[in-house]
Amino acid sequence: MKDREYFSLATEHFTIEGRSRAGHETWFRVRELGIALDIGRGPDPVLSMPHIFVSHAHLDHAAGIPFYAGQRRLQRIEGGMVYVPSEAADDFRALMRLHEKMEGTDYDIRIVGVEPGQTLPLGRTHRVRGHSATHRVAARAWEFIETRHHLRQDLAGRDRAEIAALHQAGVAVNEDVEYSILFYTGDTDRGILEQNDALYRSEVLMIECSFLAEGHQDRAARYRHIHFDDIAEFADRFENGLIMLTHFSRRYSREEIQDTIRRRCPAVLRDRLRLALPEPFGSV
Ligand SMILES: [Zn+2]
Ligand SMILES: [Zn+2]
Repeated sequence: MKDREYFSLATEHFTIEGRSRAGHETWFRVRELGIALDIGRGPDPVLSMPHIFVSHAHLDHAAGIPFYAGQRRLQRIEGGMVYVPSEAADDFRALMRLHEKMEGTDYDIRIVGVEPGQTLPLGRTHRVRGHSATHRVAARAWEFIETRHHLRQDLAGRDRAEIAALHQAGVAVNEDVEYSILFYTGDTDRGILEQNDALYRSEVLMIECSFLAEGHQDRAARYRHIHFDDIAEFADRFENGLIMLTHFSRRYSREEIQDTIRRRCPAVLRDRLRLALPEPFGSV
């Protein structure tokens, strides 16, 4: 994606692309997984993704759903799964029925309501789990889990011939191990930092950080968003290899965001922190 408004960040196992500013538009895509995280206003890069994970119904995250359905119909792309908080699923379905009625057509996408703690398969090697996020409307954080096929841990260090012999004899020498590879919070306040353990352990964490500046802590609490102070407060708990901050308020310029986080960032986070902004503003 060449658009200078978009950012692109290569992690060890996949690349995250997208655009995210509070109240304006938030969407990301991870092509290796065939997913979009939120859909903003329905930008071209997400239309071909078969799985869309919507964090909540605010329009800067979800307005693109009908357009996604319409564009896929136009381009003859079948299916399209749109995962939403279970509390909002019926309303999203009703919205799609209205669009179908107004346009005299039917759409192929499926709205899937997901409850906190519910896990669904995503292809053959991945699963996705919904977590509750604490925001002004029902909100889901999304965790992506990969199943990797490994030699059984108790067989590590044995020689090859021995393992081959066991395998020949019909003994299962491999085991499946689950890795949390990505956790996306969507919009939330500090409640998720207090209540959720999984987010601290995922390989890559994408966490909203709408507010940064001194004096904006009240605003963050009122609109139920995270202030960078909240992240700093929990700094010692993050085990993630990479932490991407998203959803900055538009009251801050890109320079201001980078400078402020540089100044306020606890040393333990500095090397792992990335910003969902185009270069040269992607790191601190
Ligand atoms: Zn938002
Ligand atoms: Zn929101």
